Amino acid sequence: MAFTNEQLERYSRHIILKEVGAKGQKKLLNAKVLIIGAGGLGAPVAMYLAAAGIGTIGIADADEVDLSNLQRQIIHATKDVGKPKVESAKETMEAMNPDVTVKTYHTFVTSENIMDIIKDYDFIIDGTDNFPAKFLINDACVMAKKPFSHAGIIRFQGQLMTYVPGEGPCYRCVFKNPPPKDAVPTCKQAGVIGAMGGVIGSLQAMEAIKYILGKGDLLTGYLLTYDALKMEFRKIKLPSNTHNCAVCGDHPTITELIDYEQAECDGVHL
Ligand SMILES: [Zn+2]
Repeated sequence: MAFTNEQLERYSRHIILKEVGAKGQKKLLNAKVLIIGAGGLGAPVAMYLAAAGIGTIGIADADEVDLSNLQRQIIHATKDVGKPKVESAKETMEAMNPDVTVKTYHTFVTSENIMDIIKDYDFIIDGTDNFPAKFLINDACVMAKKPFSHAGIIRFQGQLMTYVPGEGPCYRCVFKNPPPKDAVPTCKQAGVIGAMGGVIGSLQAMEAIKYILGKGDLLTGYLLTYDALKMEFRKIKLPSNTHNCAVCGDHPTITELIDYEQAECDGVHL
């Protein structure tokens, strides 16, 4: 596949990088990334991946755009209120870059549909807002041997980690099980500073791009935390022993996907 003149100009700042080059840009154009959640995290991830020329971007979300989303979900505009988030996100991405094919999934991911949704993608972004979805995505990605980026944000704090099959711990290695219902406040209850989605979501996009290029060190085996009030990033080394994990360990006890109970709007809302 040869680049058009327009593509050479569009991606010139990538192509000039020795870590990307024409070869790397072609990898990006041939890549398929799935974003689960078109909210505070998914919005910047989708915009940076579209701008970068990721050829196929899937986006899954069951919600419609709400006025209270716009303080942080920058892929949606005031005119989009009431529209499915996946449709609004698709319009923004396609307007940004005609090279990108956007596939929308206007649904919650569940144990019934997630394996079918993730199967065609090279890398998965967890941009969801609740613990049941985060554990479901983790377990599905471990079982399907798919790399993914986990992230969560609340108030002035954010965190992320990257799972690559066989190269480090999964989300369940670290967090074991979802916290009890109502033990952790939602962003609706606790609030979140809008730019936090931009900081952490951009880091998730960076992980996806590095994975596709095969360049640099991924956040495997580490949890990165960000405290915006202290302006402090901490890179915490995670235990490397995954043998006893219930899903990615040597003798997994979780061999089927679980739909954990979730009250409406429960969990860390992004
Ligand atoms: Zn594990």
